[in-house]
Amino acid sequence: MMKSKLILKDGLIIDPARSIEVRGDVVIEGGKIIDSGPGAAASHSENADVVELNGMIITPGFIDMHCHLREPGFEDKETIKTGSLAAAAGGFTTICAMPNTQPPADSASTLSFIAQTSTRDSLVRVLPIGCVTAGRAGRELAPMIELAGAGAVGFSDDGSPVGDAWIMLRALEYSKPLGLPIINHCEDLSLVANGQMNEGKISTLLGIPGNPSISEEVMIARDTILAEYTGAWVHIAHISTAGGVEIVRQAKRRGVRVTAEATPHHLCLTEYAVMDYDSMARVNPPLRTQADIEALIEGLNDGTIDIIATDHAPHTADDKAQEFGLALPGISGFETALAVLLSLVHAGKIKMADLLYKMSAGPAAMLSSTGLKLGTLEKRAVADIAIIDPDHEWTVDSSVFLSKGKNSPFHGTRLKGKVKATIAGGKFVFNEIGKN
Ligand SMILES: [Zn+2]
Repeated sequence: MMKSKLILKDGLIIDPARSIEVRGDVVIEGGKIIDSGPGAAASHSENADVVELNGMIITPGFIDMHCHLREPGFEDKETIKTGSLAAAAGGFTTICAMPNTQPPADSASTLSFIAQTSTRDSLVRVLPIGCVTAGRAGRELAPMIELAGAGAVGFSDDGSPVGDAWIMLRALEYSKPLGLPIINHCEDLSLVANGQMNEGKISTLLGIPGNPSISEEVMIARDTILAEYTGAWVHIAHISTAGGVEIVRQAKRRGVRVTAEATPHHLCLTEYAVMDYDSMARVNPPLRTQADIEALIEGLNDGTIDIIATDHAPHTADDKAQEFGLALPGISGFETALAVLLSLVHAGKIKMADLLYKMSAGPAAMLSSTGLKLGTLEKRAVADIAIIDPDHEWTVDSSVFLSKGKNSPFHGTRLKGKVKATIAGGKFVFNEIGKN
């Protein structure tokens, strides 16, 4: 018989939404958190399953504002089912799917297909992001009001920027009364030209065409100016450059409604990962320099960068087994995100609670349109929880990823810290507690 309560006993509860960090228990019933704190287990011991955590971290399940689940249309790369398995293994309980599917998510019917497939196949909550423009073609706006009505939590043509400033202006005007962000992939393609990696010494050395940091900075500048003009909300996807961080910082000081995200790979890898022409390290925007990484970390710590998002971008082996310039950009990121990011915590560059905030409460604040109480362990919150062993050392083997995408520049890397279990809506969706 299933017991009615689940008790997570003797963990280190870190709930950054409430600045709580305390050794204690979390009690779950009916898919919700009903109690937590030191000694909470004692008053709920009847009819309860108890899981002993011996000091492992209990924290809100991660929320990813930026991933590619590839379904419909590219099921050889990933499906909602396999993507959700990988997300659960990475501690994620809510994931926002980018609309660059086939067909693109630019109609209520495609959003409803995604919702139905997620209900049937997904272990975690999938929230769709709708297209900004019809077919992601950049020429005319998608039916944004209809998409919001069908559950879109934001709009993006990700994979491509919204290149046309007039379209971006109109998109911001339409999104403003909906209270939803325009999430832009900020790269001015005329400046990217044929760039395939960061423009600099390494690109010259390797003879690979460079993508300069200004390609990103020019579009972030444009978007913050348009957001300021309209009073609408722009969210900068996968910010990668020191200059871009500074533009966002200045805009925030002026009161512009701008938020920004950084990815684990842009925070932890430099352009050196491309040495040996490793196509696994090909990603858009490209991996940059150590100085850019330092600026991103500073941006996280001073609040310029609001959240961390994976940009999980699974590809088939064939997509990547090409010469560098032909290999498709992207990294399969769900299953390494936390452990990669913990290297910043272990190095003393960001505090554990701050990192967890950027992966839970931070993105939850962007999802207020859903009306769900996410990203916290407070009473009556949805029981979405990640359980972490921060000291567990392991070596990444991308061949055993639950994602169909085995494309990871971290394959073979030794990492410290691992998600040991994930609970979504009160149920285990991933559980390696007790396994080594
Ligand atoms: Zn993008």
